[in-house]
Amino acid sequence: MSVTETRTAVASVPHWVGGKATPTRSGRRGPVWNPATGELQAEVDFASAAEVDDAVAAAAAAAPAWGATSLSRRAEVMFKLRELVDARRRELARLITLEHGKTFSDALGEVARGLENIEFACGIPQLLKGGFSGQASNGVDVYQIRQPLGVVAGITPFNFPAMVPMWMFANAIACGNAFILKPSEKDPSVTLYLARLLQEAGVPDGVFNVVQGDKIAVDRLIEHPEVKAISFVGSTPIARAIYEAGTRHGKRVQALGGAKNHMVVLPDADLGMAADAAVSAAYGSAGERCMAISVVVAVGAVADPLIAAIRERIARIRVGPGLEEGNEMGPLITREHRDRVASYVAAAESEGAAVAVDGRDGTSAMPGFFLRPTLIDRVQPGMRCYNDEIFGPVLGIARVETYAEAVRMVNANPYANGTAIFTRDGGAARRFQMEVEVGMVGINVPIPVPVSYYSFGGWKASLFGDLHMYGPEGVQFYTRSKVVTARWPDPAGSTVDLGFPQAR
Ligand code: NAD
Repeated sequence: MSVTETRTAVASVPHWVGGKATPTRSGRRGPVWNPATGELQAEVDFASAAEVDDAVAAAAAAAPAWGATSLSRRAEVMFKLRELVDARRRELARLITLEHGKTFSDALGEVARGLENIEFACGIPQLLKGGFSGQASNGVDVYQIRQPLGVVAGITPFNFPAMVPMWMFANAIACGNAFILKPSEKDPSVTLYLARLLQEAGVPDGVFNVVQGDKIAVDRLIEHPEVKAISFVGSTPIARAIYEAGTRHGKRVQALGGAKNHMVVLPDADLGMAADAAVSAAYGSAGERCMAISVVVAVGAVADPLIAAIRERIARIRVGPGLEEGNEMGPLITREHRDRVASYVAAAESEGAAVAVDGRDGTSAMPGFFLRPTLIDRVQPGMRCYNDEIFGPVLGIARVETYAEAVRMVNANPYANGTAIFTRDGGAARRFQMEVEVGMVGINVPIPVPVSYYSFGGWKASLFGDLHMYGPEGVQFYTRSKVVTARWPDPAGSTVDLGFPQAR
């Protein structure tokens, strides 16, 4: 399967139900833009409630047999999927860049981080081991088993169109569930490519389904009694609404929301390292990462030299189409989003901040949805550019006098996804890790996305629900535990079999 074939097949991007590409009957579609050129490149189908019901029916039909499939077979399928995704990294990355706009190397990084979750899921036999207490009472054993939930659904954002689905479906499927994905309508094609890889790996038809669309599809997934759990990643208002509606319908929900990530730089930090980190973490993927650094909190006298070092690095960033070699930052996802991000720069000056580097300059001649790296000095709580998640290549600098002031600022923010501290002082770093009220913390690491054998998730308005995503908490989310108390007559009957015991 080549990318060209895939693109021809998805010029109109259909659903994937019961192992087949399924065009919509709803008559509703949405545009898929090429953000680097501003041109329409495909149309994506929008599911009706009845089409969601079809996908749920396909998943419900496939779930019992898949849930009863041996752990060795499920692990074997995951190993095969790992091989296929590994071999098709470039095709997947190309599809991501075409529709999302991020650079090809960044898209390869996205696939690599997604793949780690499939690798984690290859260990499912080990991960699903329960506890066992022999002779809990006279002749009685007690043990715990973990079972799949049945049909589960994932709703994903535009900014990681392959990785975030992999955060969810790798564990969900390895745990024995049937999965329905509702990807972002802005860059949906890569999910169909993944669907074909899952099929090629041996995932039975109906165990992985994709419904394309908007609120209508999401609302139906939330209401449908057969859907037992919802994983969501996206903006905070939608995450909150989905958590509330999903739990009201009796479902298990994990809903990850938006972010405003602070990077605290203490006066003793390695300035060059801190500047490199701030620039990479603020402008990588044009700032469209939920773990992007949005505010640098400069403590004491570090602000001026740090800003000078950041400016110098910004001047060297190459902005342009993501598929052109050498470009380091691509466009934003849509024209509306680019204009919204630019509006924060316009507002910043009237609110009393200082625009140190204006990324609006020189973008009018570019055909796509570009905005260059922007640096805003003297941002403060209360300003729009501080309060809101901008989700673009805009870095704010907040100046404070002390470490304590910096921690107070981070902890007062309603979002709490990621944060980082840059310092050479181990004691200060350790104190920060204990005092900061944020779910993921970096020490001289600006984007502390946990590896796949830990779990990902923020606190406060960045996550609604009890369990974080992927890793051990992902396995817990997609299974429910049962405890068995057993007593057997002794001795039990037995037969003779000289064959080598087989697992499947
Ligand atoms: P979004 O909230 O607009 O959309 C996310 C998903 O929800 C999409 O599939 C979309 O179709 C659907 N959706 C949108 N409006 C809806 C509605 N009214 N009802 C039901 N469903 C709806 O988010 P986005 O713009 O695609 O992605 C960017 C956001 O995602 C940012 O806020 C970013 O911080 C967040 N994000 C968070 C994490 C995290 O792990 N916390 C990771 C990636 C992205």
